[in-house]
Amino acid sequence: MKQIQKLATAPVVAKNAPPAPAVGPADDLPPAYWAALLEDVRADAGPARNPIQARKLSEIGRHVLRVSCSRCDRIVEIQKADALRLYGPDAVWRDVGQRLLDNTCQQRTGRYEEDGCWPSFE
Ligand SMILES: [Zn+2]
Repeated sequence: MKQIQKLATAPVVAKNAPPAPAVGPADDLPPAYWAALLEDVRADAGPARNPIQARKLSEIGRHVLRVSCSRCDRIVEIQKADALRLYGPDAVWRDVGQRLLDNTCQQRTGRYEEDGCWPSFE
């Protein structure tokens, strides 16, 4: 049983997947690709190499950080200055956001797999 669970949660790696098609001239990029790029720029003026939740607090260029829960629909906001003070500049926003949600989450089922909030970062 333990083995099965381990396999189920392991990231799926397609060994025989064909390589991504070579990117042609800029004009040939699919519109969705550009939409995603523009979305990124609009959402955050900071370094765009990582999604915001993968960055350290010190690498995020916003003044207010926001995380929402896709289970209970709550939105938690924290000033970046407060987050830095509480968790330190090296804390990753994903971890901080999860903790913020968990502190006030109403979804307590008692089962480890289901308990807690599902953070959704913007
Ligand atoms: Zn929740």
